[in-house]
Amino acid sequence: MKHFYHVIILGGGASGMLCAIAAKKKNPALTVAVIEKNDRVGKKLLATGSGRCNLTHDRITADHYVGSFRDRSAAVLSQIDTTALLGYFRSLGLLCAPDGEGRYYPLSRQASSVLDVLRFNCEAAGVSFFCGETVGSVRRQGRFIVQTAQNTFEAEKLVIAAGSKAAPKLGSSGSAADLLRSLGHRVVPFAPALCPVRVQSPLLKPLKGLRAAAAVTLLRGGRTVAAARGEVQFNDDSLSGICVFDLSLYSREKDEIAVDLLPDISENELFNILKKNQKRFAAQPADCLMTGILLKRVALAVLKAAQLSDLTRPCGALSAKELRAVSAAAKALRFPVLGNAGFDRAQACTGGVHGSEIDPHTMRSKRCENLFVCGEAIDLCGACGGYNLHFAFASGIIAGEHL
Ligand SMILES: Cc1cc2nc3c(=O)[nH]c(=O)nc-3n(C[C@H](O)[C@H](O)[C@H](O)COP(=O)(O)OP(=O)(O)OC[C@H]3O[C@@H](n4cnc5c(N)ncnc54)[C@H](O)[C@@H]3O)c2cc1C
Repeated sequence: MKHFYHVIILGGGASGMLCAIAAKKKNPALTVAVIEKNDRVGKKLLATGSGRCNLTHDRITADHYVGSFRDRSAAVLSQIDTTALLGYFRSLGLLCAPDGEGRYYPLSRQASSVLDVLRFNCEAAGVSFFCGETVGSVRRQGRFIVQTAQNTFEAEKLVIAAGSKAAPKLGSSGSAADLLRSLGHRVVPFAPALCPVRVQSPLLKPLKGLRAAAAVTLLRGGRTVAAARGEVQFNDDSLSGICVFDLSLYSREKDEIAVDLLPDISENELFNILKKNQKRFAAQPADCLMTGILLKRVALAVLKAAQLSDLTRPCGALSAKELRAVSAAAKALRFPVLGNAGFDRAQACTGGVHGSEIDPHTMRSKRCENLFVCGEAIDLCGACGGYNLHFAFASGIIAGEHL
């Protein structure tokens, strides 16, 4: 069956729904349809923020993003900053509140509230949803011809809001890249980000399953590329936790992650503490040296990294050199990086349409007339903390207002 709409939005996720709402708010006479491959819109939204939807942050700047759209993103983020986005949500009926660290969530602390508000606003404005339909191809013949297995759509304007390739279970297949290429765009290949980082180390085995509050640093050739602080989780083959996810934005094979297990104590202070422990616990075996400082299994990994031989020796027999080595190891456990975990475990992606090809004031394509792109289909990826949803929502609103 053939359908005609003024505007077709490809993808019923965060950016697509905001785009539809903004388009109808600006010009109620426009006919707007959203085509979504899942059987319902906003499936990924429900999974965000562990089901609570961390939708923005009180410090949103371009510094929190990577990608070829990064410098241009300032034009988006200044048009719709945190206050403007929260005001926009309020105008739709969604109240939000921050946690103690600047991250904003719906007041209900439930992602379903966000999705329901967006859905109800779309429905009230007369947006048509075509769910369970995957767009296979898009052509330009004067108008855009959009093809799904069930229907053919014709539209004057097309918005690509089909996301990236992260978390394919929730709908992201990477099809935005193919569709954008078919319309003449340069696309940076999608790569998984905000995900565990695969590492190789004999320390993983003793640490497996443990969590530790730490500071993590990504090193390349000994130079710091990125740093973060939070809870690190030690897995079979990888490190994870929000602070590691933030490093995954930059990490690549042959980098190293240094884990500082005692970020509030300097290496020298630690050395002095260990000297006192050595006296206190002089008769105990060496594996008791860090008792009262670290979990036993974590302490054992530190002693292993410090290459202490014969842990049955008494603490009192350890040399100053060995205490120095233990202090250094606790401040920087080294994990050589193999690469990021796959798309299945990623919350977002780097890659997407090249930033130079999108006008950040309107989200209009510079390559293809009447085409707009928003959200994660653009080569921009933010840190954990609400940055990706903020950009998806903000770019969706801007696209909708310029249709
Ligand atoms: C588990 C998880 C937790 C997250 N938590 C947070 C968080 O708390 N805060 C935050 O800021 N970010 C979070 N993110 C990232 C955030 O969800 C995304 O950045 C955001 O959803 C991107 O919005 P989007 O509209 O560009 O893409 P999406 O929300 O992915 O929407 C794209 C839609 O297009 C549809 N689609 C794709 N291809 C086609 C096609 N060919 N035909 C029809 N439909 C198609 C998809 O099914 C999908 O519904 C999280 C991501 C995950 C996976």
